[in-house]
Amino acid sequence: MYAEAGTPAQAKQTSYPAGRDFAFFFEGLAEGRLLVQRCHGCGTLRNPPGPMCGECGSLGWVPVDVQPHGTVFSYTVHRHPPIPPFATPHVVALVDMADGFRLLGPVSGIAPEDMAIGLPVRVEIGRFEHPFPSFRFVEGA
Ligand SMILES: [Zn+2]
Repeated sequence: MYAEAGTPAQAKQTSYPAGRDFAFFFEGLAEGRLLVQRCHGCGTLRNPPGPMCGECGSLGWVPVDVQPHGTVFSYTVHRHPPIPPFATPHVVALVDMADGFRLLGPVSGIAPEDMAIGLPVRVEIGRFEHPFPSFRFVEGA
């Protein structure tokens, strides 16, 4: 999103992708569940959702519950512009989930200066207009 010259940037909450591929994911979050696609052809778990398996080309899949924890693969600290409902600055991480796929989301429970690759996190379902995946640092894990 770009602001036009001379106007302040507006923090705007984007809506989640409501297409057929993502519907089960957000419906699961609304029920307090973290679901990903498991390929019918080869069993690969894949995220983000998509219509076809990148490993075997199968179009068949089922939604499965997955373990809600992992370790930080990479992260960034978002400083500007403000994005409600998140404080600024806040951490956004790409997480290696325990079941072998990656998931992106904001991280709470740790200061940006203390964030590091490899730290353990647990999924929490955030809510702001709609549910979204987020993480909380797991101290002592
Ligand atoms: Zn497959």
